[in-house]
Amino acid sequence: MNLQTERFKEIARENLANEEQRKILSQFSLILKALRDSSFAALPDENAALEKGRKIREDSVKNMPYLLETFEENATKAGANVVWASDARQANDFIVSLAKEKGANLCVKAKSMISEEIGLREELTDGGIETYETDLGEFIVQQAGKTPFHIVGPAINMTIKEISNLFNKTIGVPKTEDPTELAISARMFLRDKFKNAQIGISGANMAVAETGSIILVENEGNIRFATSVPKTHIVLMSIEKVVPTMSDATHMLKLLTRSCTGQRISNYVSVITGPKKAGEIDGPEELYIVILDNGRTKIYSDEVLRGALQCIKCGMCAAVCPVYTHVGGYAYGWVYSGPIGAVLNPLLLGLDRARDLYHATTLCGACKDYCPAGVDVRNIALDLRAKEMDGDKSFNASNPPVGLKRLYRIWTWVLLHHSRYKIASRLMRIIMLPAIKYGKISRLPGRLSGWTQCRDIPQLPPKSFHEIYSELKK
Ligand code: SF4
Repeated sequence: MNLQTERFKEIARENLANEEQRKILSQFSLILKALRDSSFAALPDENAALEKGRKIREDSVKNMPYLLETFEENATKAGANVVWASDARQANDFIVSLAKEKGANLCVKAKSMISEEIGLREELTDGGIETYETDLGEFIVQQAGKTPFHIVGPAINMTIKEISNLFNKTIGVPKTEDPTELAISARMFLRDKFKNAQIGISGANMAVAETGSIILVENEGNIRFATSVPKTHIVLMSIEKVVPTMSDATHMLKLLTRSCTGQRISNYVSVITGPKKAGEIDGPEELYIVILDNGRTKIYSDEVLRGALQCIKCGMCAAVCPVYTHVGGYAYGWVYSGPIGAVLNPLLLGLDRARDLYHATTLCGACKDYCPAGVDVRNIALDLRAKEMDGDKSFNASNPPVGLKRLYRIWTWVLLHHSRYKIASRLMRIIMLPAIKYGKISRLPGRLSGWTQCRDIPQLPPKSFHEIYSELKK
């Protein structure tokens, strides 16, 4: 996948000028929020359900090492082959060589963000195994050669006309602006692939330690097809997907589908425990579960940052984010977009390569209010900014410029004491004076110019609140 996190500002600027996309994003946000709110309101106690979900995810991540071992034990007992991979290279090499060993030349894939993260489809294709995404949105993205625009709706930004032109070019179907016809075309094209594929690959929405089961959530039936027709099913999951019990999983399921699409439950929920058993008609003969770390153990070892691992990839935070709903998903430059992408991409790629993403966070905290998994993006973004100023090498932050570091030290020193703060604000009033016109500063010089590019800085009032308050008290 073409990594573009370093181009955040540039891509964001381009997307801000895209009126059509801005319209789609604002409708998407309004509709999803309304659907989500009404489905949560149907719960007997919405707040209690959210609290319980957040606790389940917090505890699951905290106890991850033990839960993963239990999961491995129970999945193996159920007949699955469990394989551990420390990084993308190991996971890709294992899956490609397994597919070759099985003599596969065709593979069908269910939507999986972790497979996007490691570029699995491209690796399989390079290894001579024709691979197709089978989720409609992912199929469109694959045909377009793009990255997902949103965690749950990878092609929500594309118009019917664009998709029609694309399908006409790539799968050779007549142009139409009827969405049903377009969906049928993709369906007919993929039906043949499902029937002939030797390998089916899926991710995992959850892995249940208690039973060794994988839970998969979808609306199109493609996951059930991809995991039951091919003889070999490979599950690729990242380590944080594990939850302790089936009861925890079913509770999270309620929150996941409501947050993803505003549905009380998705059209299909598959619980896969081992491969096909004797006497069963459907299902794969072999089940492999690849448990991938890819930098997550390092995140886990930091008590603040580990909160990012609680994410269940519902995508809801994007719909309420003032940044995402303006710049869209491509600006994040990699697999994960929206608030979670703003912290997860830098954690996985290193701060130097993706610092603009968490710099762009407004720290409004709207995402935390809506998050069913208790991820505090604001807190994590602040921690990343602190790590950047410390030049934290464990997350690939280079040493910050000495001048900038000094500036922040002085700033902190001033803000930490009331009398220093008072003197500084009086000084600011005087320093600002020459630049003020009509009660505001509309343009700052040189490197500070970014602050006034889209907004004015209002003149500080002649007296601060504290000064007025002390006068009134007297
Ligand atoms: S951070 Fe929360 S709201 Fe955002 S995708 Fe993850 S679980 Fe969903």
